[in-house]
Formats: sequence, structure tokens, C-alpha cells
Amino acid sequence: MSEQRRIGVIGGGITGLTTAYRLARSGHDVTLWERSSYLGGQAAAFHVAGNALEHFYHHLFMSDTEIQSLMEEIGIGDELIWLDSSVGFFADGKIYPLQGALDLLQLDFIPLHDRIRIGLVTLYLQRQTDWREFEQVSAAEWLEKAVGRRAFDRVFGAQLRAKFGPRYDQVAMVWFWNKIHLRTQSRKSPLQKEKLGYIRGSWNTLIDRLGEAIGEEGGKVQIGTSTDSVQQNKDNSWTVQTSGGDTESFDAIVATVPSPLMPRLFPTLPDWYQHKLTDAIYQGAIVMILRMNQPLSNIYWLNIGDPEIPFTGIIEHTNFIGPEYFQGNHFVYVSKYLDQNHPYLTMPEDELFEEYVPYLQRINPDFSTDWVHEFWVFRERAAQPIITQNYSNRVPEHRTPLHGLYLANSAQIYPEDRGTNYSVRLGNKAAAIVQNDIDHGYLAGDR
Ligand SMILES: Cc1cc2nc3c(=O)[nH]c(=O)nc-3n(C[C@H](O)[C@H](O)[C@H](O)COP(=O)(O)OP(=O)(O)OC[C@H]3O[C@@H](n4cnc5c(N)ncnc54)[C@H](O)[C@@H]3O)c2cc1C
Repeated sequence: MSEQRRIGVIGGGITGLTTAYRLARSGHDVTLWERSSYLGGQAAAFHVAGNALEHFYHHLFMSDTEIQSLMEEIGIGDELIWLDSSVGFFADGKIYPLQGALDLLQLDFIPLHDRIRIGLVTLYLQRQTDWREFEQVSAAEWLEKAVGRRAFDRVFGAQLRAKFGPRYDQVAMVWFWNKIHLRTQSRKSPLQKEKLGYIRGSWNTLIDRLGEAIGEEGGKVQIGTSTDSVQQNKDNSWTVQTSGGDTESFDAIVATVPSPLMPRLFPTLPDWYQHKLTDAIYQGAIVMILRMNQPLSNIYWLNIGDPEIPFTGIIEHTNFIGPEYFQGNHFVYVSKYLDQNHPYLTMPEDELFEEYVPYLQRINPDFSTDWVHEFWVFRERAAQPIITQNYSNRVPEHRTPLHGLYLANSAQIYPEDRGTNYSVRLGNKAAAIVQNDIDHGYLAGDR
């Protein structure tokens, strides 16, 4: 084992927890700070109805192998379960089930030849394995050319607009290809039903176990503690002052916070690197969770293809993990992606609920507010990095220009779309880079 170093990890989401676990396991003296009162960041869950539920809906694809390996390693591999998923598309007042490529032929709000084109393009994208060919073109341009204007507007374009709003035409085709490609890997054949992964007891099972494992390896986890100031010393070590009033020195810092927060935390980062950080544009997300006494639909994942409806998707959790796990309650996520100045990000919760009700009645005309016993609203500003054309040139390096400062966040996940599997991969990678620098004598105190 190499010499023990003091390493600070900022952020207790899946990336920070994985990084801290790996470095503590390699024998380093690790401290992780999380500013919220709970660990897990975007993947965290809260206790409700005798179980736990993520603030933001979560599932895994079969291709998510890094998180599966980590779960095995920390002794919770058996908690991962694979369940049938059901997907639908809402357009023209109707739910169209989309369980396999053949269901695309049922989308009768567009002519048959458009449906055939959409089906063939989907099959084509499922089979492509080289993402580079999709890097230089926008999804809107590629897809419109492939399926024609009308089919694009009603199906693929509707989905892009729902997720990215006015920036929909900036998203690179690589992002869209990846969505289609991954879903194929969660099916044994294109005609078969998709299986998605879930963690028994919610993502908190993984988050809690990671926190525990860091402790077992001698690391420290401080929740409700933000890093207020982080200064680099003359010998390249770092002094961190936390909101708890502690001041401590470290040989290296791994920051796992969203890119736009970095320049304020580390104002001495050179301009060219700061530009890379501020270049990263994120869509925010707002999710309303309804606790209901009956289901809204029989679909788990319903994409909304109606431009008048103000939300992007309805994810009915209890059509995935049954209501029997939640004392008979039904839980429905009403999800919307939005840009940073959208009024919903600051709208009072009751107003948002009133705003959504008529549209929930479009999804199910029988829906009544009496069905809803409780609701919660969760908001996240750094929900989805927008993957623009030639993004590979813009990904900031993990090893920042400041000696001993490393960055690992979701804007560095590419070409895959962000997700907890890739946060685990980021954490593994960041820890390996720090270890490599220690092994080569690059950290403070080595020179
Ligand atoms: C609506 C939605 C749906 C999703 N669905 C899925 C899904 O189905 N499957 C899936 O795998 N993934 C999904 N994801 C994505 C996944 O949750 C994230 O990609 C992942 O959790 C990001 O982890 P992270 O650690 O990189 O970042 P975060 O979870 O954002 O963690 C960063 C942490 O840093 C903390 N922090 C910030 N500043 C400071 C500071 N100064 N000091 C201390 N702490 C600080 C924050 O409080 C936060 O906890 C979804 C995300 C959203 C928003």
C-alpha cells in the first residue's frame, strides 16, 4: 500500500460516496462533506408508507454494470432486483403502450408510413454501436431527416422539446442514440419486454451501505456540513473551512459538485478551465410526488407527447414496485425538466398542484383531487447536463489545473447519459487518478 494521504471529498452523492469509499479502502485518511442533512444527493430517498421512495424516480438498465459490481463488493448485490417495465406515450388524449418496436405501428395519430419509418429508424439506432458518428450532428437535424418533419414533430421532436425546452435543437444525436441503444440492452430481443433494475428499499440501501463502508475503512462522513472556503497553501496542500467551523488541511481535494458551483469554491482556477465549467449547461428538474388511493394509469413510464401538457412524464412508481410494498398506497411522479429561470423552480407547491390538476385529468379523465392524500415537490437545478454537438472537446478534465484538486461530476459523463451507474464509474475513476498521482509523487509534500 502507498503512503497514507489526507483527502477531502466535497459532496455526498453517489460520485462522492464512491470516491471516498475507494480512497478510504486504499488506506487514505478520507473526510467527506455533504451540505444536506442526508447523503445521496439526487439519488436520495425519504421514508414514507413503511418503505422509502427516491425524491427523483430511479431505475437501472442491464448495461449498468459498474453499480452492480460495487453493490456486490459492499455486500448488497442481492438487493438488486429486475422487474418488468411498461412504457407508454401520451398523445391526442390517448395512452399508447410502447412495450416493443412493433408497438410503434399502433401510433395512429400519424400515418402508417411515418410509423414504419419511426420503427425502422429505432431498429437502426438500436444496432449502432459507434457513438462517434452521432457526435457532430444535432438530434433534431438527424431525426427530422431520418423520419420526416411530421413524424419528428409528433414523436421524437415532442420528446426532445419536452425534455430540453427551447434548447431542444442544441442536443447532439449522440444523446438520443444512447437513450435508444441502452433500452435495447435491457431487453433480450427487440420484441421482448424490457426489464429494469431497482434496489430493494430504494437507492438509500446503497447510499447507507456506502456511508457505512467508508466508516469501516476509517473514513469520516460529515452530513449537514458544507465547505465554505477551500484555500490552497504554498506547499500545495489545501485548507478547508467548513460550515461547522472546523479548519483542516488536506493533501488533495476531490470536488463532486455541479460545474457552475466550482468557480465560486475555487476562484483561483485559471480562466480557460473556468470557461469549461461555466460552458456546462444543465436542465433543471421539478418532480411532484402524489400519494394516491388508486392508480392513475397502468403504465410505469409515460412519455408525454402533447405540447399543451406542462409536464414531461408521469412515472408511476407503484406500477413498477407494487403498492403492496407501500401499505397499499399508489405513488406517482409528475416530472418536468426545465431551464434555470423557469417559474416552476420557485412556484409555491400548492399553486403547482393546482396548475397540474387539469392535465392529470387529461391523462385519466376520472382523476379527482380526492384521490391524492398527500404530495411533495422536489427540485434540482443540475438535473441533466445538456450534451451539445462535439461535447467530447468540452468535457473538463478530472485533474484540474490546480495542484491536488480533482473534479468528478455528471457533466463529465460522456457519451452515456448521466445516471448513478456512471456516477459510480466517475467515483472509481477519480479515485484511481488521485491514487496514480500519489504513486507518482505528484501530491503536496512529495516535492
Ligand atoms: C429527475 C431525475 C431522474 C433520475 N433518474 C435516474 C435513474 O432512473 N437512474 C439513474 O441511475 N440515475 C437517475 N438520475 C441521475 C442520478 O440521480 C444522478 O446522475 C446522480 O445521482 C448524480 O450523483 P452525483 O454524486 O454526481 O451528484 P449529486 O447527487 O448532485 O451530488 C452532489 C452533492 O454535492 C453536495 N454539495 C454541493 N455543494 C456542496 C458543498 N459546498 N459542500 C458539501 N456538499 C456540497 C450536494 O448537496 C449533493 O448532495 C436521475 C436524476 C434526476 C434529477
